[in-house]
Amino acid sequence: MSEEKSTSEGTKKSLNFIEVIIEKDLAEGLNDGRLQTRFPPEPNGYLHIGHAKAICMDFGIARKYGGICNLRFDDTNPIKEDTEYVESIKEDIKWLGFNWGAVYYASDYFKQLWDYAVELIKAGKAYVDEQSSEQIAAQKGTPTQAGIPSPYRERPIKENLTLFEKMNTGEIPEGKMVLRAKIDMANPNMHFRDPVIYRVIDIPHHRTGTTWKAYPMYDFAHGQSDYFEGVTHSICTLEFVIHRPLYDWFVDELKKIRTEDGDRRPRQYEFNRLNLTYTVMSKRKLLQLVKEGLVFGWDDPRMPTICGIRRRGYTPESIHRFIDKIGYTKFEGTVDYALLEHSIREDLNTRVKRVSAVLDPVKLILTNYPEGKVEMMEAVNNPEDPESGTHEIAFSRELFIEREDFMEDAPKKFFRMTPGQEVRLKNAYIVRCTGCKKDGNGNVTEIYAEYDEQTRSGMPESNRKVKGTLHWVSVEHSLKAEVRLYDRLFSVENPSADERDFRELLNPNSLRILTECRIEKELESAKPLENFQFQRIGYFNLDPDSRPGRPVFNRTVSLKDSWTKIKDKE
Ligand code: ATP
Ligand code: MG
Repeated sequence: MSEEKSTSEGTKKSLNFIEVIIEKDLAEGLNDGRLQTRFPPEPNGYLHIGHAKAICMDFGIARKYGGICNLRFDDTNPIKEDTEYVESIKEDIKWLGFNWGAVYYASDYFKQLWDYAVELIKAGKAYVDEQSSEQIAAQKGTPTQAGIPSPYRERPIKENLTLFEKMNTGEIPEGKMVLRAKIDMANPNMHFRDPVIYRVIDIPHHRTGTTWKAYPMYDFAHGQSDYFEGVTHSICTLEFVIHRPLYDWFVDELKKIRTEDGDRRPRQYEFNRLNLTYTVMSKRKLLQLVKEGLVFGWDDPRMPTICGIRRRGYTPESIHRFIDKIGYTKFEGTVDYALLEHSIREDLNTRVKRVSAVLDPVKLILTNYPEGKVEMMEAVNNPEDPESGTHEIAFSRELFIEREDFMEDAPKKFFRMTPGQEVRLKNAYIVRCTGCKKDGNGNVTEIYAEYDEQTRSGMPESNRKVKGTLHWVSVEHSLKAEVRLYDRLFSVENPSADERDFRELLNPNSLRILTECRIEKELESAKPLENFQFQRIGYFNLDPDSRPGRPVFNRTVSLKDSWTKIKDKE
């Protein structure tokens, strides 16, 4: 459901279905022509890439159409919520490039919600039920079979008022009583079968402390919070479609009491949530990974959290690119993780510096290069960006190259280093391999080659055709570094749909740490989280774990999508 539209620049840009609705509402002057959205996270965990999709919608359309998007913490369950999460959520939204109007908390409305619940009781539309949650569930019926009314359904209003009061004073223990809306036990929409709207929780709330013991349920808090704030478009994910009639019912009943508010009312719209292959997006499961030490924390670079992705080297621009690519629809689906990786490659390719790093070094000695001689070679920072300039890299007689770039008995199509064959050393000379030295186990310890002086760039032979170009660093002029290579966190494509315990599905090789890597000096001045392309290998960034003299780099993504290729071969 998208529509083509001409913008003022004359370019065609397609609208998503929510934008279509909003343009229509604005054109018709609904809600006095106001546009107000909200992003409503529950502060019970860190935000993940799925939330980024909701954030780009909620904040994005407010920005696009001159409306306002507020941040509202949906903090109606003190058991799982914490201030730590509130702070991280704010940081992540800012990092994505958005600003909220006001910050609200559902807990700000506890009194208003309480008063509303009391009005419902007085109108004979709510009652206190003393049954257990199991009993209540057992009476719900099925979509085709009506439910059984609770024996407490006809409790007198006065008694309901007294008991509801007691639910909030500590006189009623947790689980002994709930307040239910009295709607319709035969409604085909199960959410109308006298939904629980209040329960007792005897745990201090991170903001309201011990003031409240009776807490509103999500369905009773969300729409009303939207209403109190003046939200016009309450955008959420598809699993709430089925809740929408109840959302409207509570708003309708509330409007009967609050006649002073005129015509305005929030309306709920739903889009497909983001599901990604090879990862999980449930906060409960992410919390388990953290608590059980299966990852190093919420910001472990393998996590799908915003802070994890940020530490991994993803940029806000790459996330926006990704969200633009997947779009918003009304159908559930799963997005290939490779698409997220594609977005960061596209973004970094155009703007990051190319440097040389050797992850698995083996020594290459140029036997005809003068000892003690050092040449500063010019390296282009980014061939995609003519403005990016160059930097210098030191070249000398002893270099490191990648172990996998050498083979003693190579097959015909091996265009890298092998005895008798010429290869180009990036930004330097063409060299011909002459042999190697091995230890007692047959491992190569040194490789020998001769360089051709006439092949340095700008020299007569510099354009000579050779099939392979290798990256290298100078032994004496390079620095040691640790490099962390990440892979998919889970080894199955859809861990959420798998019957096995999700912990058993973790990819045992999701992290490989290399401690003997060598990097060129240029990287000495890298700043935390700064992105680079390690030539021929991938995109990397400096991890905040780095210490002076001991830099640590994360592989954000490899240069090409090797995973898809491996899968195709299987
Ligand atoms: P969980 O069930 O894992 O706790 P949640 O959906 O309850 O996640 P909230 O903090 O309530 O998390 O979510 C805040 C907003 O982000 C909601 O509007 C929700 O619809 C949206 N959201 C959460 N997960 C996704 C997702 N995977 N894709 C798109 N939007 C999402
Ligand atoms: Mg939620």
